[in-house]
Amino acid sequence: MPRPEPSLSTLASQVPADLDAYWMPFTANRQFKAAPRLLVRAEGMYYHDVDDRPILDGAAGLWCCNAGHARPRIVQAIQQQAATLDFAPPFQMGSPLPFVLAQRLAALAPASLNHVFFTNSGSEAVDTAMKIALAYHRLRGEGQRTRFIGREKAYHGVGFGGLSIGGLPNNRKTFGPLLAGSDFLRHTLDLERNAFSPGLPRHGAELADDLERLIALHDASTIAAVFVEPIAGSAGVILPAPGYLQRLREICDQHGILLVFDEVITGFGRVGNAFAAQRFGVTPDLMTLAKGLTNGAVPMGAVLASDALHGAFMQGPPAAIEFFHGYTYSGHPLACAAALAALDTYAEEHLFERALELGDYWQERLHSLRGLPHVVDIRNFGLIGAVELMPRKDAPGARGYEVFERCFRDGQLLVRCTGDVIALSPPLILERSHIDRIVDVLGEMIRATG
Ligand code: PLP
Repeated sequence: MPRPEPSLSTLASQVPADLDAYWMPFTANRQFKAAPRLLVRAEGMYYHDVDDRPILDGAAGLWCCNAGHARPRIVQAIQQQAATLDFAPPFQMGSPLPFVLAQRLAALAPASLNHVFFTNSGSEAVDTAMKIALAYHRLRGEGQRTRFIGREKAYHGVGFGGLSIGGLPNNRKTFGPLLAGSDFLRHTLDLERNAFSPGLPRHGAELADDLERLIALHDASTIAAVFVEPIAGSAGVILPAPGYLQRLREICDQHGILLVFDEVITGFGRVGNAFAAQRFGVTPDLMTLAKGLTNGAVPMGAVLASDALHGAFMQGPPAAIEFFHGYTYSGHPLACAAALAALDTYAEEHLFERALELGDYWQERLHSLRGLPHVVDIRNFGLIGAVELMPRKDAPGARGYEVFERCFRDGQLLVRCTGDVIALSPPLILERSHIDRIVDVLGEMIRATG
């Protein structure tokens, strides 16, 4: 299907003169609106801004578009679905695609994760997983297990559940005490011991034993679940040492605690397997997904649940609703169509394998930035990267933001900054030449920022 090339005046005319009405998420609204960065179209590895400048996407949008942008197969699937069945009520009714998609996801996931609950976002997936965990323990007569263990610096979305187990102070501090009884494992970022380690950090597996401290403090019988991102993204890419996740699994098993992997950013090939669970050889009881699930094209999230967990819900009378939870748009036909087309694209183009194949080159090129001014660490795994910069005195985050902005304006490169960490997560379709450009531009902008 030929894509119409919009003229510059058409692109510019999409932008209203007054930007005030839209309250932007996680954005300094007034700063942004004074000098907006607006993207108006996208294809493959590139966005185009309002002046039609191509912007190389070093972030897969926001860890979403693993197959690149506006892939015709996904576009057509959404268009066809919208014209065929635009919406179907998901409660006490069904339509075929959520069933098909659930089967496909179960086949892709570790062997025991065979049941899928659909949501519309990662945040909803996390809150859903928390509710599944609570209900599961209650069903088994262990209703006193109400406590959740998250981790410092973790990001589990913005629902009240996810916020309560998230460990990013800025996200939490304006909202009061949140869910009672949550506690936090120590984070695994250790620049003193691990700075500039290529791939996984060598040190830090023993940090999993921190869970024993929390079990001793609260008693295992009060703990419902431990939530971790196998690789934390929003706090600036924090990697687990080999053995860390295995150890968490062992401790959870010893104490009847559920282990939940939040794979919202690590899912769908980012680390070279379908899921980080497979790459690290550790199977959780629940897994949360979103983003790459539809290649970012339609909002969708999901929770994958183990046979054992799902089985506990399926014991009562068949006419009884097993789980009083759901969203109007759970398993939305458009989202399912997009997800199925995305999965087909990932498989046909062997994109998960590609993340593995390109991993060595990615690592080598990224680490060539070592030695640039203010670079205090470089981290990588799969097609994830992070360059951590020394914060400016009294202005944490300012240096990272400046690099991010320069990359966009002067380098025509989209990266993500979280504080003073520049995070990279390009679409998995990228070529070596794109890796070169990402690294060259980033290096130039770090030098220019000083
Ligand atoms: N969990 C993780 C690990 C994430 O990185 C994110 C978003 O970045 C979320 C949950 C929340 O997803 P959403 O923004 O779709 O609600």
